[in-house]
Amino acid sequence: MTIDLYITKLRDMLGDELSGNDIKLIRNAYELAKLSHHGQKRASGEDYFEAHCIPVSINVASLDMPASMIAAALLHDSVEDTEMTLVQIANVCGPDVASLVDGVTKLGKIKYHGNERHVESLRKFFVAIAQDARVVILKLCDRWHNLTTLHHLPEHKRQRIALESLLIYAPLASRMGMGKLAMILSDLSFPYAEPENYQKTLDLMKEELAKAELVIKQMYEALPVLLKPALGYEPKIDKRVKTVYSLYKKLERKEWRAEDIHDIVALRIIVKDISECYQVLGVIHANWQPLPGRVKDYIAIPKPNGYKSLHTTVMSGSDVIVEVQIRTPEMHSYNEFGVASHHSYKNRHKAPHGESFNWLSQLSELDDESLTPDEYVSALTTDFFADRIFALTPKGDVIDLPVGATVLDFAFQLHTDIGARAIGGRMNGTYRSLNTVILPESVVEIVTGPKPHPSEKWLSFVKTSYAKNKIHRMLLKHKKS
Ligand code: MN
Repeated sequence: MTIDLYITKLRDMLGDELSGNDIKLIRNAYELAKLSHHGQKRASGEDYFEAHCIPVSINVASLDMPASMIAAALLHDSVEDTEMTLVQIANVCGPDVASLVDGVTKLGKIKYHGNERHVESLRKFFVAIAQDARVVILKLCDRWHNLTTLHHLPEHKRQRIALESLLIYAPLASRMGMGKLAMILSDLSFPYAEPENYQKTLDLMKEELAKAELVIKQMYEALPVLLKPALGYEPKIDKRVKTVYSLYKKLERKEWRAEDIHDIVALRIIVKDISECYQVLGVIHANWQPLPGRVKDYIAIPKPNGYKSLHTTVMSGSDVIVEVQIRTPEMHSYNEFGVASHHSYKNRHKAPHGESFNWLSQLSELDDESLTPDEYVSALTTDFFADRIFALTPKGDVIDLPVGATVLDFAFQLHTDIGARAIGGRMNGTYRSLNTVILPESVVEIVTGPKPHPSEKWLSFVKTSYAKNKIHRMLLKHKKS
């Protein structure tokens, strides 16, 4: 796509929002990124810049992001994959774009290697390292495009990336309130990550959809007529079908009793304001029998990730149960795009600092389905980052350590034998002694000698009780023998 075509496409998507300066910035980023990826190919054999950088930037634009984000998307792989440096990017596109690219480059080092135990620290690490919600959004848009081209990769890579997306990326999107992106990511990954469960869920879904089809159609046609007298206009009504992955998660929770799941299809009604939401609820309950205990007021009490809507579940026809969701356009936009939603994004930028870190705590390991609002608030106040740092192995495994932990602690976290034989370590490429304190987000490679050589001295500078215990035990064993 030529630069002029590209700009035209962006203008079509974003219209008046792009100023002259915005266009200039995007043009500069386009030229620079194209130059940096010159000659590079995707696994599909296509030109890297055309076949990846441009689509990622279009994904970013589709979330209504500003020009700096679109520019950073064009350049997101330039530092990781090419000779281009952050200084060059800063010179051409400014420090903000450079810092976004820097964030995405750092995130690129994190990899999920199939250890379920690490999932939680991996998510936390991701958030801690990103620092800026915009960096996570860029990374999610990058992954979104990569998932659409997974079929070009060898089987084992496909599965790793799909699992990583399902376990790390989609939940992050969801915790940031970006429901739509979370759905996209999980539905793209699910068939590759768990092919059998995917097929099983898909079959069941088709069956249930066929059963409900007629009833849904009747309600869908009846509702505008019933609502017009109350509202004075016919509201927008959508049929929303649950994604295959979210249905699968729910089936797992309900031990595959399909009859316990009432929201495979839901009707979604968008009205102008909050009082109309409750009015619509009244009209629905007057015409269809609501199921007791199934009215959920997420307007009065939003979900922890900020989701707002009124939900009710009603009986329709002989035995078909239908969920109805009622909300305003603002709520809808937030529910779909979360921190990336136009509304919240613009507002967030009015608050210069402070608020940008709020979202970090929202991403903590919270199960938003099961927490009461009180529990949620108290969970938020516990700062799980307070005294932890994260460092990486050269392979990208995340090691979670207390602040002040040393190279030797890191070595023991990898393996007792590596700890015992450690003689030093390369931290971000520079050789360091065993007692060097690990800097957050460093890549550490332990250098070992041929034999274990534990010493009393080690106890004075290891920070983790894990390493201390191991050293104590080894010293005792040495004394005995
Ligand atoms: Mn990329």
